[in-house]
Amino acid sequence: MPASRARLTLDLNALAANYALFKAMAGGSEVAPVVKADAYGLGAGPVAKRLWTEGARGFFVARLEEGEALRAALGPDRPAAIHVFDGAPTASAPRLVAADLIPILNSPAQVEVYSAFSRGHGNALPCGLHLDTGMNRLGLRAEELEALAQSPDRLQGLDIRMVMSHLACADQEEHAMNARQAGRFRRARALFPDARASLANSAGVFLGPDYLHDVVRPGIGLYGGGPFGRAHRAIAPVATLEAPILDVRAVAAGETVGYGADFAAERAYRVAIVAAGYADGLLRASWKTGRAWFAGDFRPLLGRVSMDLLAIDVTGCDDAQPGAMVELLGPHVLLDEAAEAAGTVSYEILTRLGERAERLYVGAAG
Ligand SMILES: *Cc1c(COP(=O)(O)O)cnc(C)c1O
Repeated sequence: MPASRARLTLDLNALAANYALFKAMAGGSEVAPVVKADAYGLGAGPVAKRLWTEGARGFFVARLEEGEALRAALGPDRPAAIHVFDGAPTASAPRLVAADLIPILNSPAQVEVYSAFSRGHGNALPCGLHLDTGMNRLGLRAEELEALAQSPDRLQGLDIRMVMSHLACADQEEHAMNARQAGRFRRARALFPDARASLANSAGVFLGPDYLHDVVRPGIGLYGGGPFGRAHRAIAPVATLEAPILDVRAVAAGETVGYGADFAAERAYRVAIVAAGYADGLLRASWKTGRAWFAGDFRPLLGRVSMDLLAIDVTGCDDAQPGAMVELLGPHVLLDEAAEAAGTVSYEILTRLGERAERLYVGAAG
């Protein structure tokens, strides 16, 4: 390992423990992990293979290309059901079929195109229907779904395996939108009694039995994020980002640290310069309240995070020497706390981690 490279450790045993937690909470419902965006930046291949070992047989991705890549990564020995949230946009049908993917059709136009394609194809093609219950993002409106249910000819050639919807406010336990969407979903899914129903993301699973239905679709909770925007004691951290100290320097009272001279030392400091910056996913916005963990203590970030470097306060800490590793995210600097310090959500922290750090997988499946 080059001496100044950051290290991203991905603990797939922790991933497995989080999967087991969702299994337990979901009762008899299937837990189908969401591995879109390269499993939130953690690596869809290693993540999905380990989850397969733990018993996962269905997965969700966003893009067609993600589905194709996941099919290739899982290989012929792991014939998972891979669902694609984007559905069947224009001209994607042959590739969906070639990679044996299950599009979640999300507009009348997609239903029409995929149904027409399937009739030319011979066999009925598996797919899902996305119902919009209030998010106003993707999905058929209730009256569009009803119209489809009443004209089966429009669904000819389609093997509708799933009806799903997505919660807009699941991360706010008390939000009235949750029960409203759950009610709309329950009524609509009754139009397709043979299809399996799916409503809950990670936070939705924590909202209780009304939200579970047949399949739950957790993402962030598997990867170490708490369901309600704060750390949850039962969810284990999966990603640990560490970087080495490059230099330790004395900063006298009255001096400043970093770009913009934004941090002014009101006393004498010892400052460690750490080989990680926003190009490694440490969001620049986190410098004011962000902190690292080193030698048994939290260490405030001092001054702005730059592209390759950041500074931390190691006053009075003899262990701070070049080469020593600092935790920037992990079992102490929790994902949800790092997100709060950066004014964002855990999802964005994970998906920004990037490629520069050396990646180590612990507990990878064979
Ligand atoms: C991303 C996504 C999920 C997973 O959400 P988490 O909050 O990460 O658990 C589930 N369903 C849909 C439609 C999504 O887009």
